[in-house]
Amino acid sequence: MGPNPPPGLRPGVPLQEFTTWRVGGPAEWFAEPADGDQLVALARWARERDLPLRVIGAGSNLLIADGGLPGLTLCVRRLQGSRVDGESGVVEAEAGEPIPTLARKVARAGLHGLEWAVGIPGTVGGAAVMNAGAQGGCTAEWLDSVLVLDPSGSGEPHRIRAANLDFDYRHSRLQHEPLLVLSARFLLEPGHEPAAVTARTSANLHSRTSTQPYQQPSCGSVFRNPEPEKAGRLVESLGLKGTRIGGAEVSPLHANFIVNTGDATAADIDALINLVRQRVRESTGIDLHPEVKRLGFPPDGD
Ligand SMILES: Cc1cc2nc3c(=O)[nH]c(=O)nc-3n(C[C@H](O)[C@H](O)[C@H](O)COP(=O)(O)OP(=O)(O)OC[C@H]3O[C@@H](n4cnc5c(N)ncnc54)[C@H](O)[C@@H]3O)c2cc1C
Repeated sequence: MGPNPPPGLRPGVPLQEFTTWRVGGPAEWFAEPADGDQLVALARWARERDLPLRVIGAGSNLLIADGGLPGLTLCVRRLQGSRVDGESGVVEAEAGEPIPTLARKVARAGLHGLEWAVGIPGTVGGAAVMNAGAQGGCTAEWLDSVLVLDPSGSGEPHRIRAANLDFDYRHSRLQHEPLLVLSARFLLEPGHEPAAVTARTSANLHSRTSTQPYQQPSCGSVFRNPEPEKAGRLVESLGLKGTRIGGAEVSPLHANFIVNTGDATAADIDALINLVRQRVRESTGIDLHPEVKRLGFPPDGD
């Protein structure tokens, strides 16, 4: 066990700054590694102390409890960068690269595949874990493989092919395994006109920002769609738009969004999620399942 804590390690850091809902209590320990070596050293530090370890990206799919999180929380948003090969369509991106940045960059290189990703305010790592998708596209369709680190293992990263990630609607096996995604490789379609791909990408962003509450803190869609139904349509049909608990509100613009109107706590948001779920269950018999990841709450079988 090394005598010195790894660089950048901080105790008691409030996590609200690191989530798009702007809620969440303190991480017992927190760091934003600047490179892969720092990440490995921090993961080792946590393992040597038997501390729980969690990685977050842009925090755009997280509800973190007001009581905070035990152990070490690593935010990888500083691990940015990507290499785009316009000839072959092979794209390598660091885990913390914002997925909208990547979508713009590959469009400029004339690569088709990520036009749908421009409005998703997450990272490349988070997109792989969540199988993020929108407007008919999703991560699983274009991902070749991920480079991961097993923090309980040797410290050597290994590559997992997309075919072995058990991808499904907003699901991958990475949600159940304690693996840290370091980078992702996409295989996109080369040979397209950059102006046309860029125009499609911009049109996708425009159609989202005009139908969803992008100006207020949120986590995007709260519930998975109970196919063939749409969660938003069910919530709206029950007249729940505008329902509030504390500072949390079912968005008047899009019923599957819960927004923080300014002073919401994680408990407010959690209570509103439960209220909506209960009303939908009572009226339709359908049990909605949250798409957002709830961290620091007691397990409830989702
Ligand atoms: C306005 C808005 C619109 C949205 N629209 C969409 C949409 O259209 N489609 C959609 O799919 N989602 C949408 N989302 C949700 C969210 O952006 C996606 O789920 C996104 O992929 C999450 O990425 P993230 O980096 O924020 O991950 P986080 O929220 O930080 O983490 C999500 C999960 O991934 C894990 N994780 C993150 N990074 C790593 C890593 N490097 N290694 C291991 N585990 C990791 C975390 O532990 C957590 O379990 C939206 C959110 C907002 C706020």
